[in-house]
Amino acid sequence: MILRLILGDQLNENHSWFTDDQEAVYVLMEMRQETDYVAHHIQKVMAFFLAMRSFSESLTSKGYDVHYLTLDDATNTHSLTDNLDWLADHYNAEGIQYQLPDEYRLDAQLTEWSKTKDIPVQAVSTEHFLTKRYDLRDFFEGKKTYLMESFYRMMRKTHNILMQPNGQPEGDKWNYDKENRSKLPAKATLPPVKFFHRDATDVFNTIEKAGVKTIGSVNPKEFIWPVTRSEGLEMLEWFCDNALHTFGKYQDAMHTDGWSLYHSRLSFLMNAKILSPLEVVERCVEEWRARKDEISLAQIEGFVRQIIGWREYMRGVYWAHMPDYAKKNKLNHQRKLPDWFWTGETDMNCLKHAINQSLDYAYAHHIQRLMVTGNFALLAGVHPDEVDAWYLGIYIDAIEWVEITNTRGMSQFADGGIVGTKPYVSSANYIKKMSNYCDGCTYDPKKRHGEGACPFNSLYWHFYDRHRDELANNPRIGMMYRTWDKMKPEDKRHLLEWGDGLLGDLNSL
Ligand SMILES: Cc1cc2nc3c(=O)[nH]c(=O)nc-3n(C[C@H](O)[C@H](O)[C@H](O)COP(=O)(O)OP(=O)(O)OC[C@H]3O[C@@H](n4cnc5c(N)ncnc54)[C@H](O)[C@@H]3O)c2cc1C
Ligand code: SF4
Repeated sequence: MILRLILGDQLNENHSWFTDDQEAVYVLMEMRQETDYVAHHIQKVMAFFLAMRSFSESLTSKGYDVHYLTLDDATNTHSLTDNLDWLADHYNAEGIQYQLPDEYRLDAQLTEWSKTKDIPVQAVSTEHFLTKRYDLRDFFEGKKTYLMESFYRMMRKTHNILMQPNGQPEGDKWNYDKENRSKLPAKATLPPVKFFHRDATDVFNTIEKAGVKTIGSVNPKEFIWPVTRSEGLEMLEWFCDNALHTFGKYQDAMHTDGWSLYHSRLSFLMNAKILSPLEVVERCVEEWRARKDEISLAQIEGFVRQIIGWREYMRGVYWAHMPDYAKKNKLNHQRKLPDWFWTGETDMNCLKHAINQSLDYAYAHHIQRLMVTGNFALLAGVHPDEVDAWYLGIYIDAIEWVEITNTRGMSQFADGGIVGTKPYVSSANYIKKMSNYCDGCTYDPKKRHGEGACPFNSLYWHFYDRHRDELANNPRIGMMYRTWDKMKPEDKRHLLEWGDGLLGDLNSL
């Protein structure tokens, strides 16, 4: 008999482990090692434990032997490797198998531990991703920047997704990004958010009783997130029926009336491997083929690009650059996140909305993460460690391989341009263009400095001015410096002085 370890983000019901005849005990563990490495959102901890418990029940009902360690189990040491040692003794195991972790931290822990074992320890694939750990590194060998677009095209061709029989992309164009940037019209009727209704009091009480430090809020009697395979498939169908038809068009839009708009909210399900990226993409492409009169190519291409493009790409960047990636701080930012990132109590309406919905639902969509919270943190010069800890804790889908590459890389430019060719920063203009946040704001998006001026405006120029040495030679940014250099010296002085004042007291915004 062998032990087979299943980590909390390895809930892949279709793994080949479940079709071979190996005599095994499947092991799942709720551990303080995982609840405590950062302060997680309560809904995130609950979602993982609920998903693990359901997965374990599903295996048991199919006749597999499962050993499930709950957080309050007296035999639980709360260390992955100590638990494995104990279980191996307990079952007198002849060997141990584990699926390759997606986090560097866990991979290193298991690799080191396995060297000390005198029974065979074998690591196998999770059979989830379309690419292997080092495929992206090999694809870009010798290149300084990793252009997502060329990786994405390779993925489309390799997996024959949205391709014509003649080898050309559907519609003879690879990318419809330019059609993915519309603001939500004033009278848009948003689809109602798909909620699940689970009484999760049990798991909530276990977490509370153990004294796990969490952030955000939850109604334990009405847990809204899908955590089982059947719920995941229901969520996918909901997306195909209600949101895919405008996914691409309003992908970048933000609005006070909705917290997920036309987004799929499938990230937790995929990151926990309850759904596979290929099945999600294939189901959506099938829907597009059946309803081409209602769903344009730009919608489905935008969606496919996020999953077989960005998602696989981020994972590849992670494995190509860890562990160094976690220390990168190209712009040498040192400030702390303002306290209101943890409370949502700020007068900046865009940030108030993005942060409060994150605290309420453990979710914000991509543009809220990138162009509101991330944009602010970057302009304010916050240390990437602080920013990472916040993103890693607050979002239901946050697992380091995809969190850190998006945060430190795409959002904070701390990797110096491996992921993005330039920093994603904007003044109030972009937020005003893509949302209705500015309508209800104390600050004036048009005013650049002085009392009542939107802080994004002076911080934007302050950022470019103080980072001239690192950024001025970037061909994608030169234009900004030409505009800055043409400004009247007095204007520049006011902007910089106002920016200095804001940076000295971020908590007061
Ligand atoms: C600062 C920052 C931090 C982020 N942290 C995370 C994180 O911890 N975990 C996470 O899964 N995503 C993260 N993202 C990417 C993206 O914001 C989320 O995947 C997305 O918002 C999840 O919501 P959704 O499922 O409704 O996505 P949709 O908008 O419906 O997109 C569909 C799917 O595409 C994939 N996807 C889209 N964009 C990206 C991307 N940039 N990188 C990887 N996959 C992508 C996701 O799997 C997502 O479920 C982050 C982005 C930023 C800017
Ligand atoms: S005015 Fe500035 S702070 Fe207020 S919502 Fe607009 S961009 Fe955000």
